[in-house]
Amino acid sequence: MGVSSVSKSKVITGDAGYILEDVPHFSDYISDIPTFPNPLKTHPAFTVVKQYFVHDDDTVVQRVIAHKNSPRGIHFRRAGPRQKGYFEPDEVHACIVTCGGLCPGLNTVIREIVCSLYHMYGVKKILGIDGGYKGFYSRNTVPLSPKVVNDIHKRGGTILGTSRGGHDTAKIVDSIYDRGINQVYIIGGDGTQKGASFIFEEIKRRGLKVAVAGIPKTIDNDIPVIDKSFGFDTAVEEAQRAINAAHVEAESIEYGIGVVKVMGRYSGFIAMHATLASRDVDCCLIPESPFYLEGPGGLFEFVEKRLKENGHMVIVIAEGAGQELLTESQLSSGEDASGNKLLRDIGLWISQKIKEHFTRTNKMAINLKYIDPTYMIRAVPSNASDNVYCTLLAQSAVHGAMAGYTGFTIGLVNGRHSYIPFHRITEKQNKVVITDRMWARLLSSTNQPSFLSAKDVVEDKGEDERLPHQMLPNGQPDSDNLVREMCSS
Ligand code: ATP
Ligand code: MG
Repeated sequence: MGVSSVSKSKVITGDAGYILEDVPHFSDYISDIPTFPNPLKTHPAFTVVKQYFVHDDDTVVQRVIAHKNSPRGIHFRRAGPRQKGYFEPDEVHACIVTCGGLCPGLNTVIREIVCSLYHMYGVKKILGIDGGYKGFYSRNTVPLSPKVVNDIHKRGGTILGTSRGGHDTAKIVDSIYDRGINQVYIIGGDGTQKGASFIFEEIKRRGLKVAVAGIPKTIDNDIPVIDKSFGFDTAVEEAQRAINAAHVEAESIEYGIGVVKVMGRYSGFIAMHATLASRDVDCCLIPESPFYLEGPGGLFEFVEKRLKENGHMVIVIAEGAGQELLTESQLSSGEDASGNKLLRDIGLWISQKIKEHFTRTNKMAINLKYIDPTYMIRAVPSNASDNVYCTLLAQSAVHGAMAGYTGFTIGLVNGRHSYIPFHRITEKQNKVVITDRMWARLLSSTNQPSFLSAKDVVEDKGEDERLPHQMLPNGQPDSDNLVREMCSS
């Protein structure tokens, strides 16, 4: 077996030239590997579809480059069933693992991977790895079949369990090899996908015919490139329930204030969407939009104004917002087992600050209720739209692995399912762009201050004028956000 390096992107030249950010394939590093006709060809469900199979050259455009003499766009390989497979169903021994924090939809993805393998391809040997990455070498496995997973999508959490830390690439790959596993489905967030890329590299280094497929999970919607992550819609819906409760509490009493903390360590998408959806929110605070408390244009002044106008108000705050206001000693210094920084409870902190302000100034006798629905939101089963999304992600992952693709993450890119190289979704985080129209829409819906000082306010000089935070560290424009912006316009 020859091992060669797999290029990250392929430039397709010619008149319609574009850059294909390709994903690895077995044929890149294993020679003389046999192919098999896809068993779906005879499946009754697919004989009625005119053009069900995806052509090997089909791509999905992520963004268009309009410069002269340069390729016309960045593309990814389109996901879906191929005419040829690189596994015979009988030889497949698949495993599924879930890592990182909980997110609605994990069980649906597990269920649909099992059902897709079993019903579409006739794969019978499927294992669940118990308790995240460390489960590969320290825990029991669970045999999975359509019967075992039949109604798990109605439950929150993950039937396989999850964990942080414990990623030992060599031990994990040893375990994969020893158990005779040749398809690995890895469901998890940014850390998990980084871990998956190391597993893939080690497998490639050893020249093993083992497909590694990632299904990105992030309730915060902070994974770049993809249109949205599964569980996000459900999280927004659940966050609204908490906002509703906070609103009921706040409007029932004079000078009532409801404070709701939602997920969003680095990205405020849940807070932004829940605020826009709810219409009961007076102020939304997210990590991307720094704010201040005292003085003209500050939070306290706005709270006083809103209480005078309406008699009550609701504040939604994302867990990573306002970190710049905390002193060094107030910032939590700890890390979790995966090395992620632990954040102080900003909802509790801001509630305390508001109470102190009104006690000190003696302006109004406020009544503040703080609601932290975080763990309730994470633990619910996914809603209808997330269930559909999870199903399609799982099916696409299975089609990719059966077709011999490996080292990829599956995701929706501009509305089409695509195979994305790991590095593209782990190299940076997706963030709310506060100069984007969506944030402007939120500001005009809540009528809250922008908390920008005069020097931060930019004139509208046309389409190409962007703030520095829309640039990547290498000085290149952040085109992923540009694409999102175009899509949200
Ligand atoms: P979320 O942050 O959404 O809860 P996550 O996947 O980012 O999900 P983590 O706890 O950071 O959650 O990581 C999950 C698993 O991935 C852990 O087992 C951890 O050891 C492993 N992991 C995290 N970062 C890396 C890394 N840089 N290299 C290898 N493995 C990693
Ligand atoms: Mg993470």
